[in-house]
Amino acid sequence: MSKKITEIRSILQEHSQMLRNAVPLIASENVTSPAVDEACASDFSHRYAEGWVGQRVYAGCKYIDQIERKCMDLAKKYYSCIHADVRPVSGVMANLVLYNAFTSENNGKMCAMPIPKGGHISHAPKYTSSGKPIFGTAGTVRGLDIKYLGFDEKNMNIDPEKSAKIIREFEPEMVLFGASVFLFPHPVKELSDVAKEVGAYVGYDAAHVAGLIGSGYFQDPLREGADAMALSTHKTLPGPQHGAVLSNREDLVELLKSSAFPALFSNHHLHNVAGLAVALEEMLEFGNIYHKRVIENAKALAEALHERGFNVLCEHLGFTESHQLVIDITNFENSVGLGGDIERILEEANIIINRNLLPWDIREGRHYMNPGGLRIGTSEVTRLGMGKGEMVDIADFFKKLIIEQKDPKKIKKDVADFRKRFQSIEYCFQKDTQAYEYLKFY
Ligand SMILES: *Cc1c(COP(=O)(O)O)cnc(C)c1O
Repeated sequence: MSKKITEIRSILQEHSQMLRNAVPLIASENVTSPAVDEACASDFSHRYAEGWVGQRVYAGCKYIDQIERKCMDLAKKYYSCIHADVRPVSGVMANLVLYNAFTSENNGKMCAMPIPKGGHISHAPKYTSSGKPIFGTAGTVRGLDIKYLGFDEKNMNIDPEKSAKIIREFEPEMVLFGASVFLFPHPVKELSDVAKEVGAYVGYDAAHVAGLIGSGYFQDPLREGADAMALSTHKTLPGPQHGAVLSNREDLVELLKSSAFPALFSNHHLHNVAGLAVALEEMLEFGNIYHKRVIENAKALAEALHERGFNVLCEHLGFTESHQLVIDITNFENSVGLGGDIERILEEANIIINRNLLPWDIREGRHYMNPGGLRIGTSEVTRLGMGKGEMVDIADFFKKLIIEQKDPKKIKKDVADFRKRFQSIEYCFQKDTQAYEYLKFY
């Protein structure tokens, strides 16, 4: 074996080793089952199948068609909808399908969430209102003019009244709900009516909450007024890194299809379509209990951190109704530091979280590199079989590292010990491979 290859291999092995001993709390991540990994490692990764199932531009697609049709059927079943396009290769690309379908290519107008309040870079304009370049996808790729929805900082949610006023005044072509910091369901029902008044389409970016929605928790956008929904398939939905677009409007199906292909995709990563089909089978079987526990764990971790002196946002609302919780850590600024500093300390102990901008950070002079918040998600630790008791153990690690300022190197050993009992992936059919195997399949 050439040294050139063994070097790459050994880095990948070290990465797996790190994760086997870690507490993975990144809200946008999850881990796939052995059966999903097997499908993703198939020959489909070498192939092309441009176009819609049964109307391909390529030959050799007989079995690819069978899998893609199955994947679409499973998605339609999981989300109770009539249209599922599983070709978008990621959540951002799924958003682009919605922009293509629902907005004009020049000077189109959209209302969405601003980034400091939880919106995603793919919802953002090319330039800020003060003319600074940020190169958000919606502005850079589709040329959209964006007006932000109103936000209620206390409740960490879209403010329905302020937003209704903005929608009526701005008259966008599309209103986009959904966010990356997403503690509570958005007021889709109320604001969809306002959007329709001004003739706007309603989109819902379910990148984070796709699994929660599919399993019947959180909210049900397609029945609350959303014309289409864009997904990432690898956050709360524990599939491969991919995307999808869903709709319940028969009259929009052709528009949505052509907004994906030929507009955006040539090869649509067929191995991930196969992996997604497996993940959907798993969630149709186990999602009801898995996602219930994801949310229970988020609430339990929030409560335990709060009891230990952390300022977890939205105590008055029970902290969260999703897989996420957000901590304002500015009370530690003079002892251990801000979000970036704390992220680093936790990582030294192999606890992996995200620093996160709080809605008021920019106003108070903090920067996204070292913001005032932390965002924590429970999708992955739940998939590893952890429950409410383990959430208390995790909160104790936070206390030792940040409040008692114990040596992260020492805590790292305790974290590895804690992880020993959680080495397989739960809520799936086949458990014969450990989580984070370097060689996922063979
Ligand atoms: C993560 C995220 C995306 C991007 O998803 P990818 O699948 O990584 O492209 C889009 N929108 C929101 C709100 C997100 O949080």
